[in-house]
Amino acid sequence: MFFPLPPSLSVFSALLLLQSPFPVNAYKPLSDSFLQAIPSPGDAIDPLNGPLLAPILIPRVPGTPGQTTAQRHFINFFQSELPNWSIQWQNSTARTPISGGAELPFANLIFKREPPWVKPGQANLLTLVAHYDSKYQPEGFIGATDSAAPCAMLLHVAKVVDGYVQRMYDEMQELGEGGSVKMDMGIQILLLDGEEAFEKWTDEDSLYGSRALAQQWSLSPNPPSAKFYRYRTPLSQISLFLLLDLLGAAAPSVPSYFPTTHWAYQHLSTIESRMRALQLLESSPPTPFLPDVNVTTGEHMAVSDDHLPFIRGGVEVLHVIPHPFPKVWHKITDDGEHLDMRTVRDWSKIFAAFALEWLDMMEVWDEPGDNTEEVA
Ligand SMILES: [Zn+2]
Repeated sequence: MFFPLPPSLSVFSALLLLQSPFPVNAYKPLSDSFLQAIPSPGDAIDPLNGPLLAPILIPRVPGTPGQTTAQRHFINFFQSELPNWSIQWQNSTARTPISGGAELPFANLIFKREPPWVKPGQANLLTLVAHYDSKYQPEGFIGATDSAAPCAMLLHVAKVVDGYVQRMYDEMQELGEGGSVKMDMGIQILLLDGEEAFEKWTDEDSLYGSRALAQQWSLSPNPPSAKFYRYRTPLSQISLFLLLDLLGAAAPSVPSYFPTTHWAYQHLSTIESRMRALQLLESSPPTPFLPDVNVTTGEHMAVSDDHLPFIRGGVEVLHVIPHPFPKVWHKITDDGEHLDMRTVRDWSKIFAAFALEWLDMMEVWDEPGDNTEEVA
C-alpha cells in the first residue's frame, strides 16, 4: 500500500492551494475546560466487550456474512444511539481477481448530520472517513488497525459531537441564522467498503468503494439554486476529507502529507499537544502522534488509500495514517489483542476535539464559572 502519487496529482495539489472555498482558521480553539470535558470512549471501545468495537473485530470481506454483520452494526448504532443522523447506502458491484468473473457487492455507508434549515446541496460537511472491509488474505484476517478501530473511533466522535450539534442548530434556528459557509456546517461519516486489494494492489484491484462513491458524487449535480449554487456536487460540499487508517498500534507517528491541508494538520497536532499538556491523554509515546507541526512530507511519502478518488475530484484531504505502518500491518496479528488501547482511546478523544473545534462549538460551550449573561 506504499505507492507514490503520480506527478499529475502533485500538480493538482498545487492548484487546490489556490482554490479552497473554505475559510481557513475560521473557528475558535476549544478552551481548556472544553477539552477537559471531552469524554474518552472508555470500555465502550474495548476489543472484547466494547459495543463500539467488539462486534466488528471479525473478518469483513466483501460478499461474505462478516460484511453484513459490520453494516448492521453501524446501522444499529446510529438508529438506536443517534437517530438524528441520516443514513444512506451507496451500492456498487465489481469483479475482482478472485471472484471468478462474478460481481461482488460493495456498500458504502454515509451517516450525516446537517443543519435543519439547509436545502439539498447547501451544507458544507466535515467528512470523517475510514474503511470497514477487511482483507481477503491471510485467511481469518481481522484488520483491527485496518480499519476496525478507526471505524469505532468515528462512532465515538459522532456520539460526542451530536449533543453539541443539536444545541448549535437549535440556537441558530432561534436566531434565524443560516445561509453562510460558517453557518451551514454539518458533519458526515463515510464508512467505506472494498478498500483492500483481493490479490495485489493495483488501480483496479483496490479502493472499490471509494472509487464508486467519488464517481457517483462527481456525476450527481446538486439542485440549482440561485443563492446556494456554490457546491456543484456532493464532492464540493466536503470541507475536509479526514481519512483515518491503520490507527490503534502504540507510538504512531503521522506525518503531514499534503501542503494544502497542513494548516488542518497543525490544528489536529495542536489539539494533541494541548491535551497532553493538560494530562487528558493516557498514552506516553516517545514522540507525539502528530509530530510534524513545522514540516510536510514530499510526495515520495504519499500512501495510496481511499482519498485518491476524492483528491482527483478536487477534495481537500487530511490523511491520518502513520509512517511507518504498524508492525502488524496485513498480518494475522492485526487483531484486538495487539491494539494499544490507550492509543485507541487517545485518538478517539483527539478526533472528537478536532471535530468540535472545526464545527465552532465554542459558540455553545458554557465556560464553567462564567455566569455573565449573554446580551444579543
Ligand atoms: Zn489494509
